[in-house]
Amino acid sequence: MSDNNSYEVIVVGAGPAGLQAAIHASRKKISVLVLGKAHKSSLFKAHVENLCSLFNTSGKSMIETGRRQAENFGARFMNEDILKISKNRDRFVINTENGSQLLCKALILATGTARNKLKVKGEKELEGRGVSYCVDCDGNFYRGEDVAVVGDESAAADGALTLVEIAGTVHLICNDLRITDTLLDKLENSNVLVHKGATVKQIIGDNQVNSLILDDGTTISATGVFIELGAKGLIEMATNLGVALDDQMRFINTDKGQRTNVPGIFAAGDICGPPWQVAKAVGEGCVAGLNAADYAKKL
Ligand SMILES: Cc1cc2nc3c(=O)[nH]c(=O)nc-3n(C[C@H](O)[C@H](O)[C@H](O)COP(=O)(O)OP(=O)(O)OC[C@H]3O[C@@H](n4cnc5c(N)ncnc54)[C@H](O)[C@@H]3O)c2cc1C
Repeated sequence: MSDNNSYEVIVVGAGPAGLQAAIHASRKKISVLVLGKAHKSSLFKAHVENLCSLFNTSGKSMIETGRRQAENFGARFMNEDILKISKNRDRFVINTENGSQLLCKALILATGTARNKLKVKGEKELEGRGVSYCVDCDGNFYRGEDVAVVGDESAAADGALTLVEIAGTVHLICNDLRITDTLLDKLENSNVLVHKGATVKQIIGDNQVNSLILDDGTTISATGVFIELGAKGLIEMATNLGVALDDQMRFINTDKGQRTNVPGIFAAGDICGPPWQVAKAVGEGCVAGLNAADYAKKL
């Protein structure tokens, strides 16, 4: 069924949608891998009072129990962010932050919906005019220009490494870099200027970003500021594969079987849009898990 890096179904996201998908898919006796960090789920720090049969239950304990259930049915887990998804014939190829390359027949996207804001002066005012939340979407607009990426984790490091191939000088502004040795090694061997221990105080520009000011008063000249907080956004990776989004380009479109328009790719939970509720996430996860398993079995 599976060797070290090949699975029938890979679930990206270890929140309630991903866990429920893994539970239902692995009960169909196929190989299932879940990728993602449990503590990054929106549910992890929540207390849930409105899920049928559960009252005032800690999200952390729900996540831990969900993982044990999935493991009992045979699902495996890798506590890693993914950085890239591509297609090779009838297999999806997934690259993780630790440098692993994994293959699967069916893919379930369940990465929630965090578009974390920096919450500094100038960010809101200059959004779309130099402030971006997506290197893969907007990076090409900054060919040859000086840019900054803000963030401490895999999304920021990967974003900076992407931009270094396109832009002029690339600054990575990070308070405390929390990335894998593989990404660190790539950063250290690149031309990215890493400003460790730095925090952005303000983004400056009239009609377009022209610089940013750090907490220690340093001014960094940049026409683009990419805010990449947290894990790499799945929406960007999915659209690169041709997955269709809603009209406002914020969520993944699915049919009632949680199928996207790309055969073999399913989606569930907050990534498919509101309401932001565990009940919806697990319901969609269940449907995605069952249908992804059937799809993989037939391939
Ligand atoms: C404070 C708070 C209180 C809440 N209270 C309630 C409540 O009382 N009742 C209720 O029903 N709902 C509540 N919610 C909402 C609920 O938590 C979410 O609707 C639910 O967690 C969505 O599940 P999900 O699996 O779609 O996404 P999430 O739970 O957000 O999980 C996303 C997963 O994807 C992973 N991921 C993201 N990017 C990547 C990547 N590049 N590679 C690998 N993995 C990735 C993350 O690490 C995480 O594991 C609350 C939310 C918050 C923030």
